[in-house]
Amino acid sequence: MSIHIRTSEKDRIDAQRCVDSFYFKNGKCCAGCDWWRYHNSVAGECTRNAPGPDGFPITRREEACGEFKDDFDWMSLPESYRLSIGYRKLETKEISAVSTEIKRYPIMRAIQKPNCYAGDDCDQIKPMWETHCEGDMGDSGTEESVDLDSNLFPPGTRITIAVPVCPECATPNQQVNMSKGVEPCECGFDWKAWTEHEYG
Ligand SMILES: [Zn+2]
Repeated sequence: MSIHIRTSEKDRIDAQRCVDSFYFKNGKCCAGCDWWRYHNSVAGECTRNAPGPDGFPITRREEACGEFKDDFDWMSLPESYRLSIGYRKLETKEISAVSTEIKRYPIMRAIQKPNCYAGDDCDQIKPMWETHCEGDMGDSGTEESVDLDSNLFPPGTRITIAVPVCPECATPNQQVNMSKGVEPCECGFDWKAWTEHEYG
């Protein structure tokens, strides 16, 4: 069930009934979604994700997406109201099985583990990925770049890149040009010394 906002009591009841009727007539759509808050009988806002600078995105009641959720207990409403909105059992279980956040199983990971003894004098820091394949493969190796051809992964595969956060000022280290050497944090924290301590 969508939740109302910003309306007078009579308008609220009319709009609520209108939106609920629309939902039971049409099935899965914003009008029946728990994330949706109607502004009026035809449009409202989607609260599924954090609001942007202009607030929550506005959607129309007939829109539908994979985030649809109807966990509302319609049987808790008076029977007269249920009759007035054309309440019927909708296959929301099937829908929620599809829209449920799926679990992910890690199959690969890589860490930027530089060679701290590179160069002729063995004092250069050379960036390298140390890659690991999980499970039966149990493979690991080092590479200068990791190529991830989207043809080789199923839909829904997620890549997350996480950079170290400065222990002094909590700023993520987002240095992008390692050919300039390992640069210190703006607060002065010595990322080069950390790297040598960690991987030297
Ligand atoms: Zn810092």
